Amino acid sequence: MLSCFLPTWEEVSGYDENMNTIRTYQVCNVFDSSQNNWVRTKYIRRHGAQRIHVQMKFSVRDCSSIPNVPGSCKETFNLYYYESDSDTATKSSPSWMENPWVKVDTIAADESFSQVDLGGRIMKINSEVRGFGPVSRNGFYLAFQDYGACMSLIAVRVYYRKCPSVIQNGAVFPETLSGAESTSLVAARGVCVPNGEEVDVPIKLYCNGDGEWMVPIGRCMCKAGYEAVENGTVCRACVSGFFKAAQGDHKCLQCPINSRTTSEGATNCVCRNGYYRTDSDPSQMPSVPSAPQNVISIVNETSLRLEWSPPQESGGREDVVYNIICKSCGSGRGGCTRCGDNVQFVPRQLGLTDTRVHISDLLAHTQYTFEIQAVNGVSDQSPYSPQYASVNITTNQAAPSAVSIIHQVSRTPNSITLSWSQPDQPNGVILDYELQYYEKNQAEWNSSLTRSQTNTAVIRGLKPGTIYVFQVRARTVAGFGRFSGKMYFQTMTEEEYNSSIQEKLPLIIGSAAAGVVFIIAITVFIIVCRRSSDRPESEYTDKLQHYTSGMKIYIDPFTYEDPNEAVREFAKEIEISCVKIEQVIGAGEFGEVCSGNLRQPGKREILVAIKTLKVGYTERQRRDFLSEASIMGQFDHPNIIHLEGVVTKSSPVMIITEFMENGSLDSFLRQNDGQFTVIQLVGMLRGIAAGMKYLCDMNYVHRDLAARNILVNSNLVCKVSDFGLSRFLEDDTSDPTYTSALGGKIPIRWTAPEAIQYRKFTSSSDCWSYGIVMWEVMSYGERPYWDMSNQDVINAIEQDYRLPPPMDCPSALHQLMLDCWQKDRNNRPKFSQIVSTLDKMIRNPNSLKAMTPLSSSVHLPLLDRSTPDFSSFSTVDEWLDAIKMGQYKENFANEGFNSFDVVSQMTMEDIHRVGVTLAGHQKKILNSIQSMRAQMNQITSVEV
Ligand code: AMP
Repeated sequence: MLSCFLPTWEEVSGYDENMNTIRTYQVCNVFDSSQNNWVRTKYIRRHGAQRIHVQMKFSVRDCSSIPNVPGSCKETFNLYYYESDSDTATKSSPSWMENPWVKVDTIAADESFSQVDLGGRIMKINSEVRGFGPVSRNGFYLAFQDYGACMSLIAVRVYYRKCPSVIQNGAVFPETLSGAESTSLVAARGVCVPNGEEVDVPIKLYCNGDGEWMVPIGRCMCKAGYEAVENGTVCRACVSGFFKAAQGDHKCLQCPINSRTTSEGATNCVCRNGYYRTDSDPSQMPSVPSAPQNVISIVNETSLRLEWSPPQESGGREDVVYNIICKSCGSGRGGCTRCGDNVQFVPRQLGLTDTRVHISDLLAHTQYTFEIQAVNGVSDQSPYSPQYASVNITTNQAAPSAVSIIHQVSRTPNSITLSWSQPDQPNGVILDYELQYYEKNQAEWNSSLTRSQTNTAVIRGLKPGTIYVFQVRARTVAGFGRFSGKMYFQTMTEEEYNSSIQEKLPLIIGSAAAGVVFIIAITVFIIVCRRSSDRPESEYTDKLQHYTSGMKIYIDPFTYEDPNEAVREFAKEIEISCVKIEQVIGAGEFGEVCSGNLRQPGKREILVAIKTLKVGYTERQRRDFLSEASIMGQFDHPNIIHLEGVVTKSSPVMIITEFMENGSLDSFLRQNDGQFTVIQLVGMLRGIAAGMKYLCDMNYVHRDLAARNILVNSNLVCKVSDFGLSRFLEDDTSDPTYTSALGGKIPIRWTAPEAIQYRKFTSSSDCWSYGIVMWEVMSYGERPYWDMSNQDVINAIEQDYRLPPPMDCPSALHQLMLDCWQKDRNNRPKFSQIVSTLDKMIRNPNSLKAMTPLSSSVHLPLLDRSTPDFSSFSTVDEWLDAIKMGQYKENFANEGFNSFDVVSQMTMEDIHRVGVTLAGHQKKILNSIQSMRAQMNQITSVEV
C-alpha cells in the first residue's frame, strides 16, 4: 500500500507475529545529520467519511542502545495527510515538505511493547492510532516523515467509524457516519417501524465519534391492533382471539369470554351469537392476566426466595393468583425436567396470593428454572397457557442434610455399636461423621465427641446399665450438616451380659469347630487340584483360589467357558416390565444410552441409565456388551458405578445402572469452567481415587481411566465407570481417542509409557492415568497435551517432559500428578496413599494455598499453556478465546477493552463492569491479566 519515492526508506521482507511474510519499510540513517525521509501511501478514497483514523504498527530503536550515536538521533516520526479529488500524485508532487501536507502528529513509541522475532532479530512493536478531519475531497494520501530515527514501519490501517443501522425506541435509524471531530455528535432521524406510530417527536439518535449511538430522543409505539415483539423491533398484528384497543406498549389481550375477533390485528372483539355486551361492560373485561414482572431471586445454598411485582394487565379482575413451576436442568443435557415432590414451597406452590415464595430442599449445584404464572378466575377457560415470568438460578454448595435415624447394632456393659443411614441429601462427598454422646442424667455440655469415616461406630468406655443420648452429623467439604435428633440407647448391665454369654457359648464353640473343618477342606481341595495340574483346570479352581486369600477378588468374565454364566452369576436379571425408558442421553459403544425409571417389586422407583444393545448384533457383540455388566456387578463401592441389573430375556438387551445426573466428568467440567472451589475439585478427585483404590484391592486393572469415563451425580459424587473392553479391540475403529498399537488399541494420552510400549497394564499404570485425570479436573476438562500429536506426546514423555500445572492449580496437587507420572512404575504412589494425601489436603486447606509461582513457569518442562503467552495473540478476542472466555468478547469490545494496553490495566471493578459475574470467570480473567502484565514487564526489559 505504501509507495516509496525517496531511496532512504527501504522496502524489506519480514515476518509478522504469526510468521507470515510481510513487507515493511525501514530507515536507519542515524549517523547522518539533517535527515528528511518521506514515504507516502497510494491514493485512498474517502467514501463519505469526515474523520479518518490511522493505526500504525512500527518499531523504533532506542538511540541509547546504538554505540557512539550522535545527538541528532531521533526516536519519533511525523504523520501527514494531503487531500485530493483524484489520484494525481507523482514523484515530486505534492512536494515533500510540511506545506502542502497537513501534519497530523509527531509519533513516538510508547511504553507497552509486544515481542516478535522479525527476520531473526528481536524487535519491539508499537501500535499508535491517530485521527484527523474534517476531510472533504474525494480522497487523500498519507505520508510518514523520518528525520533521523532508526525505525521500521510494519503496518498501517486506515479506517473511519460509523454507527450501524438500528431499531431503537420503535424507530429505524439509518447507518450514519461519525462526525469530523472525535467529539462530534451526528444526529440521525428515525422512522417508525411498520405499524408503529410516533408518540414523542422528533425521533432522534446521535452517532458519536466512536461509532456508537447515544442520546435517544422521542419514540414510536405500536398502533391499536398491533403489539411489540422481538425486543420491540417489530409491531405484530394481534393473533386471532386477541385484541388491542389503543396505541401503546402493552400486549394484545385475549377476547372476553363469549366474544371473538373477526380478523387478525383486531382492535376489539365482537360478541358471539346469542351474547351481547351491556353499556356497563367494558370492552376489555374480563381476560387473563399478563405475566408477573420484575422477578427477584435470592439463592441461599439450596434454598431460594422469589419475589415479583403483579402483572401489568390483571385481565380486569381482582382475583389474580400465582403458581410456581419448578424445572430442574441439572443434567446439563439441554433438557429440563419437572422437580420432584421433595422440593418445599412456603407458603405453597400453587394459588399464591402474595408476590413472594420461599423454596427449599433443592439439590446443591443444580440449575433450575422457575416459572411464575399469573392466573385469574377466567384462566381455566382460556385455550392458552397462562403467561409467566421465568428465572434461572443455580444452587450453591450446601452442607449435608441431617441423618434421620440411628440404629443400635449391638451392646455390652461398656460399649454400644451404632449405625445410621446416610443423609437424604449429602450435597457432596461425605468425608466423615461426628457422633456426640453424653449420659442422659448429665448436662449436654459435658458430652464427648467421636469421629467415624463410615456410617457405623463403636463407642467404648461407657458405664454399664446407663442410658446415653446420641446425635450424629455428617461432614462434607461444605462443613458439618445438622445433628440428627437425640436418640437414647442403654448399655447392658453386667448381669444381662453374663447371662447372654451363657446362652451363646455352645454356638460359638460350634462355629469355631466348623471353621477348622472348612479350612482343612479347602486346603485339601487345592492340593488335589495342584496335583492334577496336567489336566485342564476346572473353571471353579480359579474362583476358589481367588477367594482363599480371604479377600474378594475380581474374576475376569472371559475365564468362564460360557460367558453367559458370568452374567448370571454377577448381574441380576430384571423384568422388562419394571423398566420405563424416558429419553436418549448418549451414544454407547453398542447402542443408545437412555435415562429412565426402574420400579422393582417392593422397592421404590429409582432413576436409572439404560445401555441398550442395538438390533442386528452378533453373538460376539452380545457377549462383549454383557461382559461390562459381569465386571460391574462384582463391584460394590460408593465411587464405582452401581449395576442394577440386566435385561437379557427380551429385546433389546439392556444394562441398567444407577443414573448420574451430571453425565461424564469431562463435559461436566467444561460446562462449569472455573465454577468450583479447589476443595470441591479435590473432593471429586478424592472420590475417584477411593474408587480406584477399591478396584486395585479387587485386583482389577481399569486400563482406561480418564475423565470421560467418570460419571458425576447431582451431589458431585464421582464414580468410575466404563468397564467395557471392546474399545481396546483391534476391529473397532470408531473412536480416534484409541490408537492402534501392537496387541490392541490404546488411549495414548492417558496411558503409562510401559503400557504403551510393552502392554504392561497394572494398577501402577492406572495410577499414571489417574495423574492425567487430576490434570483434566484441575484444568476443567482441557485436553491433555492440547493439540500435540500422539507421536509427539510419546516422544515428549520419553524425554521426561510432563504436563505443567493448570491455571490456579495448587503446587501440592501438581506434585501429586508428577508422582503419578514417575517413569519407574514402582515409584508411583499407591491409590491408598493418594486417598490419604488428598484427605490430608481437605482437612488442611492451607496446604492448597501455595501455587506454582508465575515466573517459574518459564522453567517448566513442557510448554505451559495455562498462562498463555499473550504476545502470540494479535487481538483481545483471540486472547479471550485462548483462555476459554470467548463468550465475553462482545462485552469487552462494547466497553472499549479492545487492546492489550487497556486490558492489562483492568481492575476487578472493570471486570465486573463488562458483565463477568461468575466468580470463577472473574478469577480466570484477572489471573490472565496479571500474567499479561508480568509478561509485558519482562518484554519491556528485553534488549533490542
Ligand atoms: P458409555 O458407553 O458408558 O461411554 O456411555 C455413553 C454416554 O452415556 C456417557 O458419556 C454418558 O454421557 C452417558 N451415560 C452412561 N452411563 C450413564 C449413567 N449411569 N448416568 C448418566 N449418564 C450415563
